[in-house]
Amino acid sequence: NLTSRLSRIVKTMRGEARLTEANTQEMLREVRMALLEADVALPVVRDFVARVKEAALGQEVVGSLNPGQALVGVVHKELTALMGGDLGAAAGELSLAAQPPAVILMAGLQGAGKTTTVGKLAKWLSEGNHVQYGRKTGRKKVLVVSADVYRPAAIDQLKTVAAQVGVDFLLTEPTQKPQDIARDALDHARRHHYDVLIVDTAGRLGIDQAMMDEICDLHALLSPIETLFVVDAMQGQDAVNVARAFSDALPLTGVVMTKLDGDARGGAALSVRQVTGKPLKFVGVSEKLDGLEPFHPERMAQRILGMGDIVSLVEQAQKNIDIAEAQKLAARMKSGDRFDLNDFRDQLQQVKKLGDMGSLLEKLPAQFAQAAAQVQGGQAEKQLARTEGILNSMTPLERAKPELIKASRKRRIAAGSGVPVQEVNRLLKQFEQMQGMMKQMKKGGMAKMMRAMGG
Ligand code: GDP
Ligand code: MG
Repeated sequence: NLTSRLSRIVKTMRGEARLTEANTQEMLREVRMALLEADVALPVVRDFVARVKEAALGQEVVGSLNPGQALVGVVHKELTALMGGDLGAAAGELSLAAQPPAVILMAGLQGAGKTTTVGKLAKWLSEGNHVQYGRKTGRKKVLVVSADVYRPAAIDQLKTVAAQVGVDFLLTEPTQKPQDIARDALDHARRHHYDVLIVDTAGRLGIDQAMMDEICDLHALLSPIETLFVVDAMQGQDAVNVARAFSDALPLTGVVMTKLDGDARGGAALSVRQVTGKPLKFVGVSEKLDGLEPFHPERMAQRILGMGDIVSLVEQAQKNIDIAEAQKLAARMKSGDRFDLNDFRDQLQQVKKLGDMGSLLEKLPAQFAQAAAQVQGGQAEKQLARTEGILNSMTPLERAKPELIKASRKRRIAAGSGVPVQEVNRLLKQFEQMQGMMKQMKKGGMAKMMRAMGG
C-alpha cells in the first residue's frame, strides 16, 4: 500500500538537506500512482504533480525532517489547498444572501442524487443547521418543487422526501412545462414568504443539448443564488467530462458530491474541483436524509491519498522535531548548563525558520511553547521580530548573563533595537519567569521533564 511504499522511499532519503529533482522523483511517481488509483483524472493528476514539484524543489528540509517526510508535507498541503483549503468560508457553506426567496437550483445527471440532496438540504436549512461566517443562520422556511416532468415518479419522489423532512412541497403536474413550474414556484414562494426555494430538475443518463438548454432556461428565469452541480462520487473518471459540460453551460456556484459512503476513493472530487474551479460545498454520505455533511478539504485530501497514512507520516516527522528539541535541551540541562538568553534566541530563530508560528508553537515542548507564547503576546511574527531585535542588540555575554543588564545597558539595547526600555524590561522579566519554570522542571528530574515534553 501507499504508506509502506512511501515509508520505504522515505528511509532511502535520509540525510539530504534539500528537495531536489533526483530525490523527489521516485516519491512523486508514487504520489501519481496513488492519485490515479483514487480515480483522479489523468490531466488533473499531471497538473497536480507538477504543482507539488514546483512547490517542493529547492525547499530546505528543516529540523530533523528528511526529504521524504518534507515532500509528504508538501503533497498534503497542496492537495488540501487544491481541494479548497484556500476557499475558507466558501467550502461547506451556501450563500443565502438574496432578496427572499433565496433560490437554489440543482443540476446534474439522472441518478446523481439531486432529489435526495434537495431533501437533505431542505432538512439542513429548515432545522437551522446551516452555518455561514461561523454562525448558524437559524431555521429557514423552505419550499421545494420539482421541475422533472419527464419521469412520472420523479415528482412523487420529491413529495415523499419533502414529507419525510417536514418541509412544504409545491405540487406540480407532469403536463406543465418546466419553465412554467419555475415561474409558478417563484411566485408562490414570494407570496408566502419563503426564505428558500429549492428547485429539483430533470437529468438525463448522458449529457445532451435539450437538457442543457432547459436548465439554462430555468437558470435565467429563477436567478438562483446557488446553482449546485450534483455529482456521484462513484463516477470516477467520467465525472470530469460531466462537470466540464455543466460548468460550460451554467454559472455554477458549487458542487455537491454524493455517495461518498461507498468505496469511492473520492478522486472525482479533485477532478471536479479542478475542472469547475468551484468549491465543493457538501458531501452526501448516506441514502438517508440526514446524510449530508459540509465539505472538509482536508478530510477529502486524506481520503484521496488513502491518507490517514500520510498524515501520520507528517505527524511522525513533527514528533521528531519535538524529540530532537527536547533531547538538546535535556542534554544541556544535564551538563549543568543554564538555559540562557542565547538559547532562547536560538529557539526563537528555529521557530521562525520553521514558518507557520501558530501550529509550530503548539508542537514545541509544552512548557517552552507557553513561555514563548507569552513573550509573543499572541502577535506571533511581528512580536517575534521585535523580540529577536532586542536579543540581537545584546552582546553574547549579556545574553549568557542577563543579570549584567542594568539601566545603562538596557538603554543601549533599547536604542539599538528601536524599542522603548520597558519592552526590554518586559522581555527580561518574561525570561526570568521562564527560567524559573526550567529550574522547576530540572528539580522534577529528567524523566519527569522528558515526559512533560512528550519525549
Ligand atoms: P437524481 O436522479 O439525481 O434525482 O438522484 P436521486 O436523488 O433519485 O438518487 C439516486 C439514487 O442514489 C437513490 O437510490 C438515492 O437513494 C441514492 N443516493 C443519493 N445520494 C446518496 C448518498 O449520498 N449516498 C448513498 N448511498 N446513496 C445516495
Ligand atoms: Mg431526481
